[in-house]
Amino acid sequence: MSQDCLFCKIAAREIPAKLVYEDDEVFAFEDINPQAPTHILICPKKHFASLDVATREDEAVIGKVMLAAAQLARERKLLAGGTFSGYRTVFNTGKDSGQTVFHLHLHLLGGRSFRWPPG
Ligand code: AMP
Ligand code: ZN
Repeated sequence: MSQDCLFCKIAAREIPAKLVYEDDEVFAFEDINPQAPTHILICPKKHFASLDVATREDEAVIGKVMLAAAQLARERKLLAGGTFSGYRTVFNTGKDSGQTVFHLHLHLLGGRSFRWPPG
């Protein structure tokens, strides 16, 4: 846990959030400012700032974050069985990518169509 980290505080229930998934190593919650009908953030409980500082030790938990996103996407029918067929998963890394919270998180966005390239 990092003292001044918003997402560590959400994991510790010090700041409220709409949690949608949790296990020993991973937690996920609704984004407070959703950019799509589904916009969930999936995080490792271990604090690290971004993909850039992830190490081999973090390999497994990053895989768990990705698989949690896929499971949430299936549950919400973001690929099959819903109105739209596709979802987007994004790690922003660094300020010019749009990263504003420096605790690694995967955005899961779905429920609408998306353009490529992203803005
Ligand atoms: P990023 O810009 O990639 O660092 O993503 C940070 C995300 O965290 C943004 O989409 C914000 O809307 C979201 N966010 C910021 N504060 C909160 C909060 N208290 N609860 C839920 N989501 C948040
Ligand atoms: Zn943190």
